[in-house]
Amino acid sequence: MTKDYLVKALAYGGFVRAYAVSATETVAEAQRRHDTWNTASAALGRTIVGGLLLGSTLKGDDTITVKVQGNGPAGLIMVDSNGRGEVKGYIQNPNVSLPLNEKGKIDVRGAVGTEGVFTVIKDLGLKEPFSGQTPIVSGELGEDFTYYLAVSEQVPSAVGLSVLVDTDDSIRSAGGFMLQIMPGASEEVIDKIEARLANLPLVSSLLDQGKTPEDILDTIFDGESLMILDTMPVEFKCDCSKEKFGNAILTLGTKEIQDMIDEDHGAEAVCSFCNNKYYFDEADLEEIKAEITGGN
Ligand SMILES: [Zn+2]
Repeated sequence: MTKDYLVKALAYGGFVRAYAVSATETVAEAQRRHDTWNTASAALGRTIVGGLLLGSTLKGDDTITVKVQGNGPAGLIMVDSNGRGEVKGYIQNPNVSLPLNEKGKIDVRGAVGTEGVFTVIKDLGLKEPFSGQTPIVSGELGEDFTYYLAVSEQVPSAVGLSVLVDTDDSIRSAGGFMLQIMPGASEEVIDKIEARLANLPLVSSLLDQGKTPEDILDTIFDGESLMILDTMPVEFKCDCSKEKFGNAILTLGTKEIQDMIDEDHGAEAVCSFCNNKYYFDEADLEEIKAEITGGN
């Protein structure tokens, strides 16, 4: 099994920034953790791949949140990523399994919906996080990332996101690419790229055939000078901990915590991003309560 990774590159003398990622294990981990059904797997998986691609444009600790709130049965899809290739995410309704669409493909649009809001929040360590919002224009998600980049960030882009779900609901392959056209790129370059993309097989099929992110970029920029700048491992990783949930319980106040002790004799917290469960017994809760009252 190959480890997931992302490649950053330049093409056409720097007029095109190109990113490609293999994320099969990353999306498979999300599928297992949330026990998503096939259409939900593809919708969450594509958002995870898109989140990784956007996140890769950031510096290490900077983070990006992608929120897809459409009117389909999937409900909210939320993905967090950062400049280190770490990603986590969840889908409000993991149990979405729809018939294939008219093209015989998995019906991500049917799960996401065709109306709603696509939001990106970037925390770059500044005072205020940057937030951009565009309407959902497709529901297939790749086009929604592309539209967001063009409209909200004014970067003409092409984004391809692709997840191949096996018949047993497991993830067979997942990955994607993002191309960003820099100011000054010629019409000829843009036409060439468009022609290439029109004939590009699905990234998930290429990965399924054993192709690498480098191969995918080579296929897109056939014969053109492609300069690989960097490669970076990517993985599903959640930063939750018992301590963090303890701090959240602490903010509920002494009365609420006393109620948990008296009535439930404990508390369970579930991380919505990774589904890890944390159990707080009476002694844990007494300790948290003591922190509020100043004792120890
Ligand atoms: Zn978590």
